[in-house]
Amino acid sequence: MSPGTPDQQVYSVSGFTDHAELTQKLQKIEEVSNGVLNLEVAGYSNQGLEIYKATVGHGDKVVMVQSEIHGNEKTGTVALVNMLKQLATNNSPKYKQLREEITIIAMPMMNPDASDANRRGNIMSWEEVVEDFPQLENAQPSWNYYTWQNEIWDYASNPGFDVNRDFNPDLDYVPQASDFPGNSASPGWFITPEAQTVRDVYKEAHDEFGKVDVFVDLHHQGQYYVEGTEDEVTLSLSGVFVPDPKSEEGAKYSEYANQYNGDFAKQLNVAAYQALQGVGNSIFNNISLYPQDLDLPGTALGSFALNGSGSVLFEVTGQTQSFGQKKKGQLVKAVETGLYGIVEGVADGSVYEIDPGEYENIPGTER
Ligand SMILES: [Zn+2]
Repeated sequence: MSPGTPDQQVYSVSGFTDHAELTQKLQKIEEVSNGVLNLEVAGYSNQGLEIYKATVGHGDKVVMVQSEIHGNEKTGTVALVNMLKQLATNNSPKYKQLREEITIIAMPMMNPDASDANRRGNIMSWEEVVEDFPQLENAQPSWNYYTWQNEIWDYASNPGFDVNRDFNPDLDYVPQASDFPGNSASPGWFITPEAQTVRDVYKEAHDEFGKVDVFVDLHHQGQYYVEGTEDEVTLSLSGVFVPDPKSEEGAKYSEYANQYNGDFAKQLNVAAYQALQGVGNSIFNNISLYPQDLDLPGTALGSFALNGSGSVLFEVTGQTQSFGQKKKGQLVKAVETGLYGIVEGVADGSVYEIDPGEYENIPGTER
């Protein structure tokens, strides 16, 4: 989720998936799956690109996964498409059981304008926000509105928003001028069409199933070390994005206290961690916990955790600007392995037997 440490080099990202390729791949999977995968256009980005919702399975446990809310964080989309292909076309008993027990709702590349620009923010001006929400005419632009410029990025001539601060735990929230410019410890506003689209899919699933059991958000971070070792982190995990609404610190979220399930988020993280440790002596074992003292209600993870989803953050090492396609295959595999740990653990029920205390044994991240 952090902007990371981009250096001055420009690496090729052509080995990753762009929006046109994503469209082709998803349509192909739907076609060969004979109806097992259902592909829909859930909405459109500000620049008019399709935001997809791919659904597989018919179980009553709902697992929602999204990727590339930051458009320069690309391994998640590749991993998610690989996974969708297996889930939709593999007829082994294992995959049949997964489809029986869970419903996967995938939103790969939910911020496609940013993805095709290979940058963090979407492409949208404050003037466009005011056109959509005239009540904001005299409001200050939100704090997550990028208009700056440096050697790499030019948000000055092509501004945009960090979509991952545009979420609000009140899924029916309507923007009000008095809530701007806001800050990182306050909820967002659903002013971007990308966040609105994900919110709508989440709400629809929540209404249909009563709950979105699991929400996973796939990101990248800078390059760090596993605490107490000289091992470079492959992937950091987290299940904590806001203070527990039952705690004193989380009192401002008390209206969500009954549905928030921090222990389940921890169990899901441990399931992902154990799956990665199970690979055997490799970089897949270099897994750490992301910083835990967060209060980010404007993130998708924070908002959906407060709505009762066991929420899991994946932070793969290296933004595309600083890392390019280096280790791409292994990093994609790490994301897939962690995702399968979660999905299989929910499907066979084993995740509910995990001691949430195991979460504290995942090593920290040395920054
Ligand atoms: Zn991110």
